[in-house]
Amino acid sequence: MGDPWVATTKTNMDCIFCKIIAGESSAQILYRDDLVTAFRDTHPIAPSHILIVTNRHIDSVNELQPEDESLVGHMVMVAKHLAAQQGIAESGYRLIVNTGAHGGQTVFHIHLHLIGGRLARVVVPVPAW
Ligand code: AMP
Ligand code: ZN
Repeated sequence: MGDPWVATTKTNMDCIFCKIIAGESSAQILYRDDLVTAFRDTHPIAPSHILIVTNRHIDSVNELQPEDESLVGHMVMVAKHLAAQQGIAESGYRLIVNTGAHGGQTVFHIHLHLIGGRLARVVVPVPAW
């Protein structure tokens, strides 16, 4: 068992996304509800680059439990809503969840990237990463 405070709150105050959710670090928040918070990525790779983050600290997809299934679905539905709000629904967008070192995950608090506003590079088929 770890720190009981962390275990009960499911918040990790060493985590930058937990700090943003707790209002202890600034971010351009675009959406918030009981389950998720969405804010602009500080290093956007496209004109519209938003992160949809669970309010509860979950390290990555690897730590998801069966009961988190609806939470993951909710993240996608919020992404759909934000894409429409940002005016990129028709032109299209990419939803990405990086997982672990080989997945390019740098912040270990699960998040969905919503990326649009320009033509994405085709990544499938992938001859080499
Ligand atoms: P990933 O590499 O999938 O873990 O994505 C982490 C993303 O978080 C990167 O695109 C970063 O630019 C972004 N990021 C890191 N710190 C912040 C922050 N304080 N506010 C907003 N976005 C951030
Ligand atoms: Zn966190």
